[in-house]
Amino acid sequence: MNILKTRSIEHIVTAEKVIEGGGFPVRRPIPNTEMEQIDPFLLLDHLGPTNWGPGEAIGAPDHPHRGFETVTYLLAGENEHKDSKGNHGRLRPGDVQWMTAGSGVVHSELPSPEFLEKGGIMHGFQVWINLPSKRKMIPPSYQDTPSDRIPEIFLEDKKSKVRVIAGEFNGVNSVIKTNTPILFVHALLEPGVELKHHVSTDDNIMGYLISGKGEFGLKDEKKSASEGQLVVFSHDGDSISLRSTDDSNLELLILGGTPINEPMVRYGPFVMNTKEEIFQAFHDFSK
Ligand code: MN
Repeated sequence: MNILKTRSIEHIVTAEKVIEGGGFPVRRPIPNTEMEQIDPFLLLDHLGPTNWGPGEAIGAPDHPHRGFETVTYLLAGENEHKDSKGNHGRLRPGDVQWMTAGSGVVHSELPSPEFLEKGGIMHGFQVWINLPSKRKMIPPSYQDTPSDRIPEIFLEDKKSKVRVIAGEFNGVNSVIKTNTPILFVHALLEPGVELKHHVSTDDNIMGYLISGKGEFGLKDEKKSASEGQLVVFSHDGDSISLRSTDDSNLELLILGGTPINEPMVRYGPFVMNTKEEIFQAFHDFSK
């Protein structure tokens, strides 16, 4: 039998507060002043939770993307998505939109007209995942995944659960297919519950705390983190371990991926391998 070695914690980053799109607040742990990316993750935005009054909610009007994927995961509110090719979709709480921008789309991501009119709480995530050079110019595609298609696993206490958005957890596979190996799970732990997961030693793994408090890493040198912090695991093992504190629930995203390890040139909504490809993107989208 294989003995798994638990990874220690490399560092803990506190998300910066920034204003995005047409003017909505996000907390952004990556990129930050220390790290341009955690390969293949280019960006993690925690949107809200923001309580918008009637007519107030703001989204991101028309903008392009090329060379990577954007994943939107909504916890509260309602979003509407439209792109230049006529694709259209709505996201409700628990739904995921996995958009492979590939060669490019121009899209808008806005509160639905009904949500805008009534107002309410908007809460969710947008994650940018890089594509390897060979796949940067593939045709754009969508995996719009309603909440009821996302597998949920209950842990031993029968109350704590894990939603498997991408990759595999406890033998359960996501319905979303990824271009490179990605783990994307949403865990909701009752107080004092431990979560362990086997990971590849090559992969970058991190946990972003949506709410509550937790302890991470090796038994004798656990690191504490709380809401709005990103915990980055070291590469010194093939298993991750984390636990909600005895007095607090813990809700977090666990993200993992195999590094692409290629040169990256990033400018706003474009992420390519060379400057020339960035110039080309500007040219193609300014027509
Ligand atoms: Mn976008």
